[in-house]
Amino acid sequence: MFEADVAHIAQHSSTGALPQQDRVGELVAEAHERYAGANASDGAVADYIPILARADADWFGLSLFAADGASHNAGDTGIAFSIQSISKAFVFALVCDALGHEAVHDVIGVNNTGLAFNSVVAIELNGGSPMNSMVNAGAIATTALMPGKDSDARWDAIRSGLSRFAGRPLLLDGEVYRSESFTNYRNHALARLLQSYDRLAIGPDEAVDLYTRQCSLAVTARDLAVMGATLACGGINPLTRERVVSAETSRDTLALLASCGMYERSGEWLYEIGLPAKSGVSGGIVAISPGKGAVGAFSPPLDSAGNSVRGQRACAYLSRSLGLNLFASAPRADIEPNPGPDPFQSPDREGASR
Ligand code: GLN
Repeated sequence: MFEADVAHIAQHSSTGALPQQDRVGELVAEAHERYAGANASDGAVADYIPILARADADWFGLSLFAADGASHNAGDTGIAFSIQSISKAFVFALVCDALGHEAVHDVIGVNNTGLAFNSVVAIELNGGSPMNSMVNAGAIATTALMPGKDSDARWDAIRSGLSRFAGRPLLLDGEVYRSESFTNYRNHALARLLQSYDRLAIGPDEAVDLYTRQCSLAVTARDLAVMGATLACGGINPLTRERVVSAETSRDTLALLASCGMYERSGEWLYEIGLPAKSGVSGGIVAISPGKGAVGAFSPPLDSAGNSVRGQRACAYLSRSLGLNLFASAPRADIEPNPGPDPFQSPDREGASR
């Protein structure tokens, strides 16, 4: 939309640095300790995909991967869980990198639906548009855009692409894939509705199958932190030093996560925490601080929008204590606040209001 206008202007970054490594490690440990005991009944473990109900409500892992390659971990950061909706962020990045800024904007959209992640009504209310790649309809349509000569090639590109973000080969959790495949009637309904509006680049069954597979890739909280840190570092994985996507794609992905990554709670999340982030129903959250690194959190109990309760609290704590909030600024040290009367308050108006 505005890209053509500004494409010739060099993109400069707008970022600072994390505190010293030891301090970061202390704060990650503190955040974990603070919320590990939080009442699990504050949230509920997802059970609409039957196998997810087996998760332990006490699992809690917190990981921060810094842009300089330092890794800080507390709690259950080695437990593998299915990535679920968090895959949407990274598949979006791969598709955006392949097709470009304008194409994903025009074909899918980049505005929040204000409705639940699996809403059917959102499609109808928006003339058949899936609206954005972070809700199920938009994610299925985005996955359908993945380049590849057939389904196997597309799946290979998704799995290897997400593995490059993680810096290690990610494997499909077959049990999760089967459990979701037997019960994902709603996603099939979304895909068929999109097909009826001519919004799906491949057949609906293949699109849902690929999407279900990507959601079933097994990751740890530490993997999420590395994946997010790759987006925080302009598309270069700070663990492997491999370029995974372009800096422009990283920027576009983070912009989309800021407005849509936490579903209909994205506004509240940005107001409280101030970071682009993505959550998934198995209890994962990745929150990204551009130029600094990323937090990967895992704890299965969710709030009513499907966001991990402990994960959100831990991210809020780290955003505040590590100075990650994108919107926080401090006055310049060399500018003294004016101690005199407010120069914009006219005596007349003051008099009138009394
Ligand atoms: N695979 C899940 C679904 O389609 C992902 C949803 C999520 O994590 N919010 O329902």
